[in-house]
Amino acid sequence: MKNTMRKGAALVLFSGGQDSTTCLAWALSHFERVETLGFDYGQKHAVELECRALVREKIRALNPIWAERLGEDHLLDMSLLGQISDCSLTKDKAIAFEKCGVPNTFVPARNLLFFTFASALAYRRGIETLVGGMCETDYSGYADCRDNTLKSLQVSLSLGLDAPMTIETPLMWLTKEATWELAYDLGGNALVDLIREDTHTCYLGDREHFHEWGYGCGKCPACVLRAKGWESYLQSK
Ligand code: ZN
Repeated sequence: MKNTMRKGAALVLFSGGQDSTTCLAWALSHFERVETLGFDYGQKHAVELECRALVREKIRALNPIWAERLGEDHLLDMSLLGQISDCSLTKDKAIAFEKCGVPNTFVPARNLLFFTFASALAYRRGIETLVGGMCETDYSGYADCRDNTLKSLQVSLSLGLDAPMTIETPLMWLTKEATWELAYDLGGNALVDLIREDTHTCYLGDREHFHEWGYGCGKCPACVLRAKGWESYLQSK
């Protein structure tokens, strides 16, 4: 790893999934203080939120420097998002693809809202960097995950707060395979194993079926991406 240690604090948008856990490890390696933020928006896969505390506890145990840097956890009630969105993550609908090619797991503008709320919290806590696991490489086509969307939001937030606010997205140009690789670089097999066993990605909230790549139904778009990335990662080893 290059030595890119930065001063100050970061707030990680932390859902308890593979991507945000990798981002948490990345932030712990790069910032002096790291806080985490989760959103409860009535998602059916609320099991993801239950993974958060355990993942935080285990990641702290992996590395004494990380333990020192890991600060407070915050959970915001975003149930209003469930009221305004009509998608399969919050409503009792099957996962399917819309005409435009985007799966109906899409909660419109979710990341714009998440980062905006995160910036308000960060401002109050004296934090100038927000970290999110959005990715434009192996993704489902959500427009609010795109690099340009987030670059533009970064400018809006900094102007609107009249304070510097940087959005870091360390996974933006990584494939899912490379995301596993990054976890290995940051924390070795111990972190890879933690991600496999304790994080949650499956849209259906399946914690019954365990695969090599982790728990999940194995069929939803999130499971398919995670499994595919794991297979490529294994082959590259
Ligand atoms: Zn699944």
